[in-house]
Amino acid sequence: MEEKLNRSLKVAMFFGWKRLCPRCGKGELMSSYLKVRLECSSCFQDFRCQRADDGPAYITILILGHLLVPLILVFYDFFRLNPLIMAVSLSTVAILLTFYLLPRIKGALIGLQWAKKMHGF
Ligand SMILES: [Zn+2]
Repeated sequence: MEEKLNRSLKVAMFFGWKRLCPRCGKGELMSSYLKVRLECSSCFQDFRCQRADDGPAYITILILGHLLVPLILVFYDFFRLNPLIMAVSLSTVAILLTFYLLPRIKGALIGLQWAKKMHGF
């Protein structure tokens, strides 16, 4: 008998973005920076079947590329900054944004997999 759950894609991805369980939104999804828990501590949803793999990294690179390339062009055209200052400052922005986005995108992808019943969810 199939479990009748409201699997809203938006809500599941939002909970995943917040690194919470996509099913209940209460339990933690991650046990460390990028490591996914085996199951939810609140509703005992099994997370072993998630397959985020390299997807979060690809999406993070895609987003950062679209943000940083125009910034490089604007900085170069309008401010004529020293290339070393530009490289150091934009690399710092890229690293900080990567640290911020990567676990959230991974959580959102797991939420998407859960909402679409992918990989045995
Ligand atoms: Zn849960």
